[in-house]
Amino acid sequence: MNITKQKGTKDIMFKEVNYWQKFESVIKEVCDSHNFSEIRVPTFEATELFSRSVGDGTDIVTKEMYTFKDRGDRSITLRPEFTAGVVRAYVENGLSSRPSPVKLWYAGPVFRYEKMQKGRYREFRQFGVEIFGSSSYLADIESITVAKEILEKLGIYDDLKLKINSIGCKECRAKYIETLREYLKDKIDNMCDDCKVRYEKNIMRIIDCKEDLEVKKEMPMITDYLCEDCKKDFENLQNGLKNLGIEYEIDKKIVRGLDYYNKAVFEFASKDLDLSVGGGGRYDLLVDMLGGAKTPATGFAFGMDRIVLLLEEKGMSIDKRPDIFFIASNGDAYFKASILQNKLRKMGLITDIDICERSFSSQMKYASKINARFVIIIGEDEIKNNIVTIKNLDTGNQFTADFDASVIMKSIEIM
Ligand SMILES: [Zn+2]
Ligand SMILES: [Zn+2]
Repeated sequence: MNITKQKGTKDIMFKEVNYWQKFESVIKEVCDSHNFSEIRVPTFEATELFSRSVGDGTDIVTKEMYTFKDRGDRSITLRPEFTAGVVRAYVENGLSSRPSPVKLWYAGPVFRYEKMQKGRYREFRQFGVEIFGSSSYLADIESITVAKEILEKLGIYDDLKLKINSIGCKECRAKYIETLREYLKDKIDNMCDDCKVRYEKNIMRIIDCKEDLEVKKEMPMITDYLCEDCKKDFENLQNGLKNLGIEYEIDKKIVRGLDYYNKAVFEFASKDLDLSVGGGGRYDLLVDMLGGAKTPATGFAFGMDRIVLLLEEKGMSIDKRPDIFFIASNGDAYFKASILQNKLRKMGLITDIDICERSFSSQMKYASKINARFVIIIGEDEIKNNIVTIKNLDTGNQFTADFDASVIMKSIEIM
């Protein structure tokens, strides 16, 4: 019996992997240009890290984590998100002693046992940034700007909209939660099962629920209960975005799924389906919660799989084809060709050569199957006259050139 891949995993290859590579290079480029430093944290951590930070009452912790005992009887969890691990690393490595703010970015796989649907996997990939050490709204703007520039470079920014909200601080949120509990008290029995659990454990998540819409029409929203401080911060954020010409809308329904957020939260969602592709916000309490000194922090995380799907749908150009395939008639020709091949590679071309000792015609067929732009033929005649025969596979044009990398480079450019 053949072993097949696990449900919710995928093999990323060929054309699709080109999208991923392009995406990853844009992330790196933009983060570098903003002076963020990459951090690579472990794929697995102590389970407690996630139950304490992401929150006991969240779907992630209650239903979706890949948790197991290792051979040393430790409870281990495959990371379901990055922020907890990055904060753990921040505390453990004493990064607070570095010049503040500390600006980090990451990208890599995360694991959640989720219901399967298009563009959603159990092993999926996220990228994001975290900024430690600034309580200013300017740090929120910095992180939104990074997200915006990445989406712009990928050519999908115009397909998305930025939605922002404030979910208040510890103080105003406590008051709001009281109000919300009071409002829902005589309604909760008629609401969905998930909401009944949320009512006890994580009441703000009720706002996220797609059911019980009737109840929600009149429901008090956190944005209307902000304290003076939070109100001021939220206004500053909005003015900042306006000053930078970044369009946004306020969406009072954004509360984010994780426990550790406070104040500014945001999401990027597709304009047509209103499907969230990523988001983030401030999490001023988390560093402290995980044993560090009190440190304001803000950041975002994007699901990469859904964005790649968007890039594919848009047909983003990821032109990646071999420039030259070398056809060598025999061993001697192969070694001669490989000298030339080396030089052309150093000049930046993508080159390939037959390594199966196949016949001339099968080599030719292979070259056209892999979509090479040119073939360079090196046979007995060519070796004798110190030349090469070049064929443009797009046009069929064929000509000869000196056995010289610079001459070949020039002649394929003019074709
Ligand atoms: Zn507040
Ligand atoms: Zn519900």
